[in-house]
Amino acid sequence: MDFLKADALPWLAESQQQLRDSNRAARLPHSSLLSSTPGLGAEHLANWMAALALCETPERPCGVCASCLLLKADTHPDYHLVKLEEDAQQIKVDQVRELIAMLALKSYRGGYKVGVIEGAEALNMNAANAFLKTLEEPAANTLLVMIARPTHRLPATIASRCLRIALRPPPTDMAVAWLAQHGPAGQNWDAALSLAGGAPLLALELQASGLAALESDMQDALRAIGAGAVDVTLLADQWARSNLPLRIAWLENWITRRVHTYLGEENSDQTAERVRLPAALLKPKIRALFELLDAARDMRRLASTGMNQQLALEALLLGGRSVLVPRGVGTVVIAKSK
Ligand SMILES: [Zn+2]
Repeated sequence: MDFLKADALPWLAESQQQLRDSNRAARLPHSSLLSSTPGLGAEHLANWMAALALCETPERPCGVCASCLLLKADTHPDYHLVKLEEDAQQIKVDQVRELIAMLALKSYRGGYKVGVIEGAEALNMNAANAFLKTLEEPAANTLLVMIARPTHRLPATIASRCLRIALRPPPTDMAVAWLAQHGPAGQNWDAALSLAGGAPLLALELQASGLAALESDMQDALRAIGAGAVDVTLLADQWARSNLPLRIAWLENWITRRVHTYLGEENSDQTAERVRLPAALLKPKIRALFELLDAARDMRRLASTGMNQQLALEALLLGGRSVLVPRGVGTVVIAKSK
């Protein structure tokens, strides 16, 4: 692992400084919960924390001592990573037991023992309960770092025993500056960043996975829906087969922007300009957009449950037909009167 990657992510700097201070005061928390949406580098921070605890020089983490080198080579005997196995839906209780056993052993190198759990939301109840005792009575010099999404609630018995470190998307100017430096040159990062919910690493990934092509594909599809020129069943089938999560994310983002536009236009009505369309007519549109947004969010949440995605998508597209239309195409165009 390259734990020094965290040093290249400026939005982690504050957390790193606090942890460095805690470590200097010999008060590194036994267990931490990194609460983060994907794409903010929580894994890099967890690795860096492991190196902070395991490094054997005062300038931690140095990257060159024996312990740092072992960690870099993924062969450090006092470090143990638990994450979802391929094709598994949950972290298995055996994986957690292995981690507990390792944390209970004497340290090989005479220092810390570190356990990292990536995707802690995939811990099932049994697995979570299994290491409750480890959390309640931590052995000396152990560091446990869990990473979970902020929307996921870990059992209170676990969360309450961890120091919570919440990672948040950096300010847009910081994110754009970072992307300009680390991504391919000459890009407009706004769309990718917005789709990524402000998470720079995810924006980079989205851009690399052909966001521009998806963008124009989705715009074309909405135009076709608006014009009644597309068979929604076929379209749903096509989307379900290719890039569905990204399409749903794109749709959510598009609907959100649309709601803001409508709300903005309503506001302008209240302030200076008059809009020809009465607010009473606008409101059902906004309501319809919110319903659509809920449907899209449900789809994203349920995507891993094996539901029939094509049917759900078809229902979503049919239900949202009246509002799923790019500006100026077959929909109400709000003309401002002078
Ligand atoms: Zn070191």
